[in-house]
Amino acid sequence: MIELNYEVKIGCHVSIAKSVDLAFDRAKDIGCATFQIFTKNPRGWAFKGLSSEEIERFRDKNLKYNMSPIVAHISYLSNLASLDKEIYQKSIESFLREIEICFLLGIPYFVVHSGSYKGGSFQEGFERYVSSIQRGIDAGKHKITILVENSASGEKALTGTFSNIKNILEEINDQNVQVCFDTCHAFVAGYDISSKKGIVDFVTEVESTIGLRSISIIHANDSKTDVGSHRDLHEHLGLGKIGEIAFTELINNESLKKKPWILETPLDSIRNDFENINYLRSLIK
Ligand SMILES: [Zn+2]
Ligand SMILES: [Zn+2]
Repeated sequence: MIELNYEVKIGCHVSIAKSVDLAFDRAKDIGCATFQIFTKNPRGWAFKGLSSEEIERFRDKNLKYNMSPIVAHISYLSNLASLDKEIYQKSIESFLREIEICFLLGIPYFVVHSGSYKGGSFQEGFERYVSSIQRGIDAGKHKITILVENSASGEKALTGTFSNIKNILEEINDQNVQVCFDTCHAFVAGYDISSKKGIVDFVTEVESTIGLRSISIIHANDSKTDVGSHRDLHEHLGLGKIGEIAFTELINNESLKKKPWILETPLDSIRNDFENINYLRSLIK
């Protein structure tokens, strides 16, 4: 029997099906110390809306269950950098409503993915993305920290490198904007974190750009595809191209182990969320 370490906060993305507060029960069943949700169906624009009872039950469980932080992730369709009028309008409306839901539920962190500036320049996309996030900070009444997630796409993407993310943070210059570091995205974007040496270089790079303190949440995902592939396909921890040595190194890093680790690993017959969480725990020395 391996002794599991419970000092590091580990959890995963859970479903809000039927009622948003059930996320707490699902998270508890699989041993989460922290968890992430979508505030709505992430695959469409429609909002079902939350009843006041649902909100109350969520807030109630938030006090009773010993889990923190609770994190929300923006729905898939939103493109906060879009230069297309219609897409931008839908994206910003959805984003602001999702932030509003976080505010009602008392969720402190909201993860946003990168945005595409198709049809325009990097600079135009950058400006639109930054202004979207600024609107989000206001909508959250400065109580919600927006976490910019590093993307799989590299240099040309607004959040594909940590130096690009640094420019976003500097431009916004507000404590309510921090970073979500996704291990799979970093790897396929070209940061070779699969070896000890690669991780040292990576940490140095992060320190010289955004600084490790800017990372509020870690998305722990292995990768089905190679370093620099720019193809974002999550794999069970230790079973992908990043591998066990790397996750052992990352989870035992003095600064990173103090952060919340949230898994977005596949749902299939190889391993379930409970097993992935315990696997990561088993790597802690
Ligand atoms: Zn992620
Ligand atoms: Zn991903």
